[in-house]
Amino acid sequence: MRQSLIMGNWKMNGSRAESQALAKAIVDGLNAGDQGIAVCVPFVYLSDVRSIIESTPLALGAQNVADHEKGAYTGEISASMLKDCGCTYALVGHSERRTYYGDTDESVAARFCQAQKQGVVPVLCIGETLEEREQDKTFAVIDQQLTAVIEAAGIDALANSVIAYEPVWAIGTGKTATAEQAQEVHQYIRAGLAKLNQSVADKIQILYGGSMKPENAKELLSMEDIDGGLIGGASLDADSFLSIYRSV
Ligand code: PEP
Repeated sequence: MRQSLIMGNWKMNGSRAESQALAKAIVDGLNAGDQGIAVCVPFVYLSDVRSIIESTPLALGAQNVADHEKGAYTGEISASMLKDCGCTYALVGHSERRTYYGDTDESVAARFCQAQKQGVVPVLCIGETLEEREQDKTFAVIDQQLTAVIEAAGIDALANSVIAYEPVWAIGTGKTATAEQAQEVHQYIRAGLAKLNQSVADKIQILYGGSMKPENAKELLSMEDIDGGLIGGASLDADSFLSIYRSV
């Protein structure tokens, strides 16, 4: 039985005070024995949020990580810096990074490797655009995005990572994949990994992301291969986020 994981992605939202208040409200809604819940916070507020969630079940994550270890990469944040700030997780390859900031399959794979090297768990985001889905290219896109990472890191490395399947057309649009549509892709991902390494496939958490909210979370999370959620908009409201967490 895989441990579920509910992860918030706050994106570029909130002030320091709002980030602290949101973290506190989430923590206040958790019980001591809770596990499998995390928030990916803007870099500049990682330390502020860390001081609130330390010694609580809520884990800390970043929204990106540099593809190099250190050096002359102005504006970048390295995996060792994230580790230093208390991050357990780092998103890599979020579709907004791929679309707006030119993250390629190769740079995403390099980010994945950098995170792992420092003991930060990479959360590899993959998914097709609407155009790709309509052209029946969903599985081809998934294969390409996954293969780039497997070739760079090796299949065994995926045992210490998380995959987030996020159909681009469902992110921030209010359009959710149906539970069946999501399960179909999750099953495809797991079956593909099983051909390379059965224990990695059995162990890896595959999250769904794309307009998950309290009203649709239960159905999505009840699917066999959906192990949790990566949640954008609904994670900015503590009650909604906790309600999704409680529906696992
Ligand atoms: C995301 O940013 O990863 C995401 C899934 O956003 P939303 O929940 O707002 O669609």
